[in-house]
Amino acid sequence: SKVPPIILNNGVEMPQLGFGVWQVPDDEAERAVATALQAGYRSIDTAAIYGNEEGTGRAVAASGLPREDVFVTTKLWNGDHGYDATLRAFDASLAKLGLDYVDLYLIHWPMPSKGAYADSYKAFEKLLADGRARAIGVSNFLPEHLERLIEESSVIPAVNQIELHPHLQQRAAREFHAERGIATEAWSPLGQGKGLLEVPAIVAIAQKHGRTPAQVVLRWHVQLGNIVIPKSVTPSRIKENIEVFDFSLDDEDLAAISALNEDRRLGPDPAAFEVV
Ligand code: NAD
Repeated sequence: SKVPPIILNNGVEMPQLGFGVWQVPDDEAERAVATALQAGYRSIDTAAIYGNEEGTGRAVAASGLPREDVFVTTKLWNGDHGYDATLRAFDASLAKLGLDYVDLYLIHWPMPSKGAYADSYKAFEKLLADGRARAIGVSNFLPEHLERLIEESSVIPAVNQIELHPHLQQRAAREFHAERGIATEAWSPLGQGKGLLEVPAIVAIAQKHGRTPAQVVLRWHVQLGNIVIPKSVTPSRIKENIEVFDFSLDDEDLAAISALNEDRRLGPDPAAFEVV
């Protein structure tokens, strides 16, 4: 594959770059995932709440790729927290995907006021022990949520998938994860395409390397060590977004992108997001 792996804390290899399908309707997701797999992507990021686990699963099956060559991530939705509810939700996701295991199962949001993420994670530990998830982790967890989870659990999460892009660089979280062996996965890595790709500093770096702004931003993630899951439904962009392993940003480029941090979220605050 053209994408190198990140070795997770339990030894499982996860492609450093994958394909995200948030907000893509089921049929369109099937087409987009098929295009991505043809373009060389070997990791797909879906979630129960995206409503496209079936289309994703159909595309993986139709690709003809051996199951072990595709890394599939899905996520537990907020309304399904708790030990028993988590096991039921996992069964439903697996059935929709048409798989007998997932590669990575994530708690989508911590829902701190419900106080049930540690119970959900106990179910995750069972799924891991039973071989139904090859790795388990979380998403949108703040360091305080991770601290509590690690205290109450025996398996350190393999991954924390968080909003991360040049306008929200998450330095403290990345450092916290690195100290504990948790891989940082960046969601909305392109800042949802809203303005970030027109920022003059990014455009200038793209021109300098003969690349596109999206490729520059994705390359920045890769050099930071992030796992990254850009989304597009446009075939040319799907192909463009994976072609980031044959050039490098230099120190000057990295410093210029570093200077763009504004600690500005596009998505909700994980401490307060309680939508079920
Ligand atoms: P993104 O940052 O990947 O941006 C996607 C948008 O950028 C596209 O819709 C398109 O408008 C634009 N774009 C993509 N490629 C481009 C290119 N080459 N040139 C120009 N424009 C381009 O945004 P995202 O979809 O929010 O995030 C990616 C994935 O992260 C999602 O699909 C999902 O899998 C995951 N995610 C997870 C959470 C979570 O709570 N865990 C939240 C949001 C997203």
